[in-house]
Amino acid sequence: MRRKIVAGNWKMNGSRDLAQTLVGYVRSQVESLDNGVEVVIIPPAIYIGDAVAQAGDALALGVQNVGQWESGAYTGEISAGMARDQGCRYGLVGHSERRQIFAESDDMVAAKVERLVGNDLDAIVCVGETLEQREAGEAESVVAGQVRKGLAAVTPDQWSRVVVAYEPVWAIGTGKTATAQDAQAMHASIRKVLAGMGAPAEEISLLYGGSVKADNAAALFAEPDVDGGLIGGASLIAEEFVSICRAVP
Ligand code: 13P
Repeated sequence: MRRKIVAGNWKMNGSRDLAQTLVGYVRSQVESLDNGVEVVIIPPAIYIGDAVAQAGDALALGVQNVGQWESGAYTGEISAGMARDQGCRYGLVGHSERRQIFAESDDMVAAKVERLVGNDLDAIVCVGETLEQREAGEAESVVAGQVRKGLAAVTPDQWSRVVVAYEPVWAIGTGKTATAQDAQAMHASIRKVLAGMGAPAEEISLLYGGSVKADNAAALFAEPDVDGGLIGGASLIAEEFVSICRAVP
């Protein structure tokens, strides 16, 4: 059985107060959910300690990025080991904002995945095409390339630590969501690519991200290859994020 996951990526938003109050509220609400969803909060790294203190066992924490090295003279970076040390279970890598604004390449994504899984963290690896690539009919091949290159270093015993998040760039923060059918088609394609890499594709959770809200989550999560969501803006609104967690069938 694949894990069902709803993860909230706060990006560079929030405050210490939000890290305490929102995480405490979400915990109180998801503790009683019986749909088996695993809820992950991914706040700015500086608030991980505040969030962990509120999370209890009902929630997992993650970081939005890690350096591609184990440790060393890399001013401003945090390592996978440090994230683990602070109580994180997940690390997000390859987000389109990292790829576009910080020039994160597929090779860097692969190295970061290696650091995460090597430090016993689960890696949420983001992939997704731009609008131009979709309109040129290249969406599936672009995403397939990101999956193959970003997961190139994963060894057979490490696949259980890999989650893939499909986030079409044109749907992020735009209010434009992929239709449930488009999301399903891409997720099925990603699963084929994973199988072709020798991964246990049926066991790997595939999340959809890009303008997921309380009112469209249920339709997306009902698709057979959509195993949950990676939520941006709506994860900063406590009640809406909880509604999305409830929308997992
Ligand atoms: P939005 O939900 O704000 O579109 O962001 C999606 C995202 O990038 C999550 O990582």
